[in-house]
Amino acid sequence: MHRIVASISSLSQHQDTLTHDPARYRPDGCPRCGFGTLWRHGWYYRKACRAPHGGGREPAAVPRFRCATCGATCSRLPACVAPRRWYDWRVQQQALRALAVAGSVRAAARVAGVGRHTVRRWRDWLARRGAVFAFHLASRFPDWARVPDLKTFWRETLVGRSLAEVMTVLDAHLTVP
Ligand SMILES: [Zn+2]
Repeated sequence: MHRIVASISSLSQHQDTLTHDPARYRPDGCPRCGFGTLWRHGWYYRKACRAPHGGGREPAAVPRFRCATCGATCSRLPACVAPRRWYDWRVQQQALRALAVAGSVRAAARVAGVGRHTVRRWRDWLARRGAVFAFHLASRFPDWARVPDLKTFWRETLVGRSLAEVMTVLDAHLTVP
């Protein structure tokens, strides 16, 4: 829920924004109490992506905030870093797109440069949550709903749209991934 800061699509842009426009990361309200002023509360570092060709080599700084009212802390990630995932959205999209188009876990793993068990985990995640995600996306973008079934919906989304942007839209309503 509002963990992802939209439109920060690369780590260099993230570094630049952290330096010159850090207020962009500040949440509008506290995710726990809904009120409060959020103060900057340092940051932590995490690797953006484990893939050899993904992310940066240096860990990315993730800004943290603390609510002045209830004391809850939260952090905000740029759209190029995926919450709770070892790989960034781009790599996940490569794998899931290959899987949607060709249907082979082995091919998807090779294309994205990740293990087959990782591809299977992402496939199962989308199978589990894909309908709820599609429901929210279709109410936001009615044009997207003009497809015969859920399978086509996700193939078109993975082929023609940015998974990072799609997850940023969903992050405003749901916990992603
Ligand atoms: Zn609070």
